[in-house]
Amino acid sequence: MAFTECDCFVAGEWIRGEHGVHKIASPQSGREIGRYSIPSIGQIATSIEAAALAQKDWARLPIKERSRVLFNFRNILLRDLEAIAELKSSESGKTLAEGRAGLMKGIEVLEFALSIQNLDLGGKVEISRGVTCEYRREPLGVVANITPFNFPAMVPMWTIPIALALGNAYVWKPSEKTPLTARRIADALKEAGLPAGLFTVLHGGEATVSSIIDHPQVKAIGFVGSTKIAKLVYQRATNLGKRALALGGAKNHIILLPDANIELSGAGISDSFTGCAGQRCMAASVLLAVGDVKNHIEKIVARASSLELGKDMGAMITKDQVAFLRDAISRAEKAGARVLLDGRLAKAPKGMEDGNWLGPTILDQVQPGSEAATVELFGPILSIVHCKDISEAIAIENRNDYGNACSVFTMSGPLADRVVREASTGMVGVNVGVPVPREPFSFGGVNASKFGHGDITGHQSLDFWSDIKKVTTKWERQHDSNWMS
Ligand code: NAD
Repeated sequence: MAFTECDCFVAGEWIRGEHGVHKIASPQSGREIGRYSIPSIGQIATSIEAAALAQKDWARLPIKERSRVLFNFRNILLRDLEAIAELKSSESGKTLAEGRAGLMKGIEVLEFALSIQNLDLGGKVEISRGVTCEYRREPLGVVANITPFNFPAMVPMWTIPIALALGNAYVWKPSEKTPLTARRIADALKEAGLPAGLFTVLHGGEATVSSIIDHPQVKAIGFVGSTKIAKLVYQRATNLGKRALALGGAKNHIILLPDANIELSGAGISDSFTGCAGQRCMAASVLLAVGDVKNHIEKIVARASSLELGKDMGAMITKDQVAFLRDAISRAEKAGARVLLDGRLAKAPKGMEDGNWLGPTILDQVQPGSEAATVELFGPILSIVHCKDISEAIAIENRNDYGNACSVFTMSGPLADRVVREASTGMVGVNVGVPVPREPFSFGGVNASKFGHGDITGHQSLDFWSDIKKVTTKWERQHDSNWMS
């Protein structure tokens, strides 16, 4: 893997941030794989001013011309898929297959963005004799997005193509834990023909984010990350009267009923809590086991036990996170949980002993209300809570603070429908462990998983990244006019 340097992308060029250079080590091997630099407050201001200037010409282009640039961008991403997937997985710890899949999902959003030119861009009706009313979708100006470590390409790609297609300039603040993939995305946009200034990459943490939010030229802020920071970002932006949509953390529940298909539930539930090593906001975290589901649980344990670290499951983002998860498992044990599968005993892949590894872990007899059942751990840990019936399972799910995903495994339509209706989440799965909606359906949770209105992808997102202008027109006085003319 080549060493990647990712400075700040400002007005179409890479510039060294004046606020310090930081190294990045791979979570898989512990080896240094790149570095990034943090901009000064002055550099942030200059970059946003360059973005605002470039946006004016971009907004004047017909959307079909803007879409052509994005179409080139898509082809470059597909051409470079392997190299980008490798970079993503080496900086985030994902397996290569997960690195590829995340980028493909991002490209799916890009393909949706390419269809905006043929979708809802406006409409005109003669509302009265000689009077027309028209609505037009207009860009906001400069928009910003702040993203988490766990999907270095997919989460930014939820918003980059849609915001650009709608005529905005886009400022991206990637996670300081996974800042390197931004290098490939910015280079691909430049090669695609995106004019300088329309895409900006600024690194850093709280200070960079605050400067971006506070800049008067930044009109809307998207955020994806933990609930604590989502709330802070949402409050800061909306206090300034800005549009904000901040997606937060999650604690996703799966309700397993005794009539569930054993193969389907075994694979679906195991893959849900181990995929991306449990570091995804749609991962199963609590299994609400209703009645006698012993055989189903055995299947989940068997599948999770067969996973090979480094090949089937990736690494944790930091050593601190490994330590936190190991302690959380010990605390759950002390609180009475039985460890059916102990990830603390898993061996690091050969040659990668300096990486951040933890194997899949299944905790049984977890008490509702305990840490393992309520706190977002963000690792490959499944907490099983036993319930006497579906009503108890739904009641436990409904008590949780978050609201991203809930799934049910059953072969009963009416019981599945009850969970769909009563789950306190924005996304629900029926015999699907990771119920991420595919385009054009939008992605977004409720409760502590989202601050703001609307969703971040799909049709819903068009209203977030644009304004609707209403135009009423009359060209001559009507002789036969009525009260509306
Ligand atoms: P995080 O909240 O620590 O960081 C997210 C972003 O916020 C990063 O870019 C970071 O630099 C920035 N940030 C950190 N502290 C800040 C501060 N004080 N002020 C302003 N910005 C700050 O999240 P993370 O650890 O990178 O990612 C994991 C979290 O993201 C999990 O909680 C996960 O559930 C969540 N997540 C949610 C979704 C979703 O769609 N709801 C998707 C992916 C991840």
